[in-house]
Amino acid sequence: MTNMQASEDYRKPKKSLGQNFLVSQKDLNKIVNAADLKPSDTVVEIGPGTGLLTKILTDRAKSVVAVEKDEHLVNFLEHKFQDVDNLKIINCDALTWDHSVVTKPYKIVANLPYYAANPIVRKFLESIHKPDSLVVTVQKEVAESMVAVKGKMRTLSLAVQLYCMPEIVAYIKPDSFRPKPKVMSAIVKMLVYNEPLLQLKDKDIFFSLIKAGFVSARKQLPNSLSNSYDVSTQFIKTVIEDVGIDPKLRAQSLDLSDWGKLYLAFRRNKIC
Ligand code: SAM
Repeated sequence: MTNMQASEDYRKPKKSLGQNFLVSQKDLNKIVNAADLKPSDTVVEIGPGTGLLTKILTDRAKSVVAVEKDEHLVNFLEHKFQDVDNLKIINCDALTWDHSVVTKPYKIVANLPYYAANPIVRKFLESIHKPDSLVVTVQKEVAESMVAVKGKMRTLSLAVQLYCMPEIVAYIKPDSFRPKPKVMSAIVKMLVYNEPLLQLKDKDIFFSLIKAGFVSARKQLPNSLSNSYDVSTQFIKTVIEDVGIDPKLRAQSLDLSDWGKLYLAFRRNKIC
């Protein structure tokens, strides 16, 4: 690819791939500073785009593996970073990429495409080959769901908090991106636990219980849960009370430990 072709690709961001490039040096530095990089670190960057974040990462870490879905951007990056020898660029969808090829320990640092931020974060947190930490830029509402507490919990809050301690480090205004997105963004830092907070025999059953709780999120728990399980609302109410949870609560008022208690009680009573 010639220089001219490469710079043309730079000028045509693809909406379908969430290509809002972060151009504010101040915000790029906030992301990298939050990652607390050491010269011995291996970093995985999802969606390097035009390489502004990648450049700082290659300056600060020992090695960087950058996974980009857009083949045109990969060509652009290969040209831009041809003299940088601690960067490996992989042309792949991060959701299907076999990340076990990266040597542990590693950290993830990324300005994620909005459309795929949840599944990308969940893929890495749920895998056996987990990163030590993630520092990612996501849509503000997604970030707030990740760090939510009782009263504002969502499925995403529980899926993230099972594996790590998430924290919003800073907010980023639309002005910092080209093209400008319609929404605010936030940088979330996640320190991954050695073991998940709950020891679950069957993670899928745990998450289907949570899903059942959120199906009719406006209803109180026994009503919401009895829609999905073949037992009476009254029986579910008794089981919920037995584990010390107020049956008048709604799904958003339960934290991870509450769902852990409910899961065990539902398994004991052969409800799920
Ligand atoms: N890192 C750059 C920055 O900070 O400006 C670009 C971030 S942009 C929000 C998201 C990037 O992720 C784009 O380069 C896009 O092509 C890439 N991308 C989108 N979906 C992807 C996927 N499934 N796997 C890997 N990269 C993806």
